[in-house]
Amino acid sequence: MTIRIVLFGRQGAGKGTQAGRLSEHFGAPHISTGEMLRDAVAEGSEVGQRVKAIVDAGQLVSDELMLDVIQDRLEHDDVQRGGFILDGFPRTLAQAEALVDLTPFDLAVNIEVPYEVVVERMQSRGRSDDHPEAITARLNTYETQTLMALAFLSSKGLVVDVDGIGEPDEVFERLVKAIEARLGPA
Ligand code: AMP
Repeated sequence: MTIRIVLFGRQGAGKGTQAGRLSEHFGAPHISTGEMLRDAVAEGSEVGQRVKAIVDAGQLVSDELMLDVIQDRLEHDDVQRGGFILDGFPRTLAQAEALVDLTPFDLAVNIEVPYEVVVERMQSRGRSDDHPEAITARLNTYETQTLMALAFLSSKGLVVDVDGIGEPDEVFERLVKAIEARLGPA
């Protein structure tokens, strides 16, 4: 079975970790837009040069550029064969609307961790965009923009909420259960 999942969660909710594990479990490629952008920055590619300052400041890269990046990625063979676990996209209402037009998917899974808990978790991560101003900017963006993307998909009945508090193993089990409850066992 091919699975196509979109993961939501505040920065620091364990989204990246869980995306990796779900990818392994369901045999679907993990697509992290943040990772793709960080790779582009590290390579010094044209995209990387355009986005470095924005990413380091914890702001959102333009919808237009992100859509180009994701559209391109979804055309790769591994996605055609294995589906995807999408991590970090969509982050705005415009991106969510574009995604629905771009590709069918099975489910959006929202990993719920409260604001205060993620702030504490993120301070111990050490990425170049994990300084206090960028953390605040990313969390604010989540509240003002990403929640609208989530609400849009929710209105289409595409979202399931999962409690993200607890040990990673525990959260992973909840995620698999929630996904299989909706889609059937892998
Ligand atoms: P992440 O690893 O998901 O926390 O993403 C790191 C950074 O990459 C974000 O703070 C944004 O600057 C940028 N980014 C990743 N995904 C998106 C997206 N879908 N739209 C806009 N910017 C993004």
